[in-house]
Amino acid sequence: MSAALFPLFADLRGRAVRVVGGGAVAERKVEALLHAGALPHVGAPTLTPRLAQWAEQGRIAWQPGSFTPDWLDGVWLVIAATDEGEVNRAVADAAAARRLLANVVDDAELSSFQVPALVERGALQIAISSGGHAPMVARHIRRQLETLLDESWGSLVALLGRQRARIRARFPEMGARRRFFEQLLAGTVPRLLRQRQDAAAETELQRALSSTAQAHAGTVTLVGAGPGDAGLLTLNALRAMNEADVILHDRLVSAEVLAMARRDATRIEVGKSAQGHSTRQDDIHALMLEHARAGRRVVRLKGGDPFVFGRGGEELEFLKAHCIAFEVVPGITAALACAAYSGIPLTHRDHAQGLRLVTAHCRDSLDTLDWQALAQERQTLAVYMGVAGLETFRERLIAQGRAAATPFALVENGSRRTQRVVTGTLADLAETARHHQVRSPALLILGEVAALAHTLHWHGDAPLAAPASQHPDNIDAPTLSRAA
Ligand code: SAH
Repeated sequence: MSAALFPLFADLRGRAVRVVGGGAVAERKVEALLHAGALPHVGAPTLTPRLAQWAEQGRIAWQPGSFTPDWLDGVWLVIAATDEGEVNRAVADAAAARRLLANVVDDAELSSFQVPALVERGALQIAISSGGHAPMVARHIRRQLETLLDESWGSLVALLGRQRARIRARFPEMGARRRFFEQLLAGTVPRLLRQRQDAAAETELQRALSSTAQAHAGTVTLVGAGPGDAGLLTLNALRAMNEADVILHDRLVSAEVLAMARRDATRIEVGKSAQGHSTRQDDIHALMLEHARAGRRVVRLKGGDPFVFGRGGEELEFLKAHCIAFEVVPGITAALACAAYSGIPLTHRDHAQGLRLVTAHCRDSLDTLDWQALAQERQTLAVYMGVAGLETFRERLIAQGRAAATPFALVENGSRRTQRVVTGTLADLAETARHHQVRSPALLILGEVAALAHTLHWHGDAPLAAPASQHPDNIDAPTLSRAA
């Protein structure tokens, strides 16, 4: 059973459902069916006292005797709840022959539909299924939800149901309606309902509906998506992604992170490529402006942190100049994530008192860096976008006096499932990167602390080292001997 089940809430009001079996299990199923307004047709030689009572009251129909396929004539669904495997199988077979969905209690194999574990708050129903694999897990989650959701959710759904037509008329546009609901849910109405002040809640909702407050102007939220592991998103990032109408994301943002966003938000990839950098940035500005001016909530989602080599500053200046309101949600930048996930403390009392974040992605940036300062010892360099210019990088640092034996770690796809860490010394930096075919996105960490990757690694595979054949004289160096 590899494919997922298709979840479905069935309207069984006034519809006949065959229940085969008259014991305690059948009684529970019948009770659930009655709750849904269905007409249970129970077939069994005998009934529990309660089932018998319902039969007397005419709430259910009783067919005495043993199962025959014609019991399935004219029903919408079938539930087999006997404790005889033979009978259950016969019911399942007969149902399949008639293209009827059948549930065989406690037998996922025989069932063509499953009854989920359920949390109910009035008309609000939360159904949980483990696809028949682990009903205990579904029940466990149901208990957790039971404690999480108080009864007022039912009142809220009922209240909004009563006002549904008015709300639609007041906010005919989907986006505006959704914002109204979001504000409402974050406001006083749910609190009043929790306090069992239903009348006051209704008044408050009426007030919100008749208030002539302007529909919201669009906004842009600059959100740091972190390095890839969705667990590194902040709660504020999640909230912003949940409220977004439009998400403009970089190519660097992982699929795992994007999957956390509101399902029906429009996702637009605005990944930057090496060519056409500046036009692309203009396009991004134009897109932000267009959607914000249309009153939408725009999330500009960037890898890592928006203010670390993310051009977040430029984008905000642009928004400011065009009077678009904005917010910023910081993210975990690659240097922090790569360091953490490769076991490299960026500062260390014994090895590094400082940290520099630099980028070295093109000749221009290489030429404008202060190499003398970068070559100082007892500091850590975190180099972004550095896969290409490694030769030049090494030459300049060594020329300014940085020891050739300074350890480095290249962290590729940091924090992701595909993370690789490649280590060595400044002397063999470019060759080692080439040997292991390190690809973007990768972050270079250079400094004494990088050697700690061998002892402190905890995520993914152990660090890879320089190829032994290339530097036979290095083979006994501590950073190499431990990496196999
Ligand atoms: N704003 C981003 C950086 C964007 S520049 C941040 O704060 O992280 C893009 C560079 O970041 C890449 O070339 C790479 O050097 C680095 N980078 C981003 N994500 C990374 C990851 N998951 N693993 C390694 N490096 C990463």
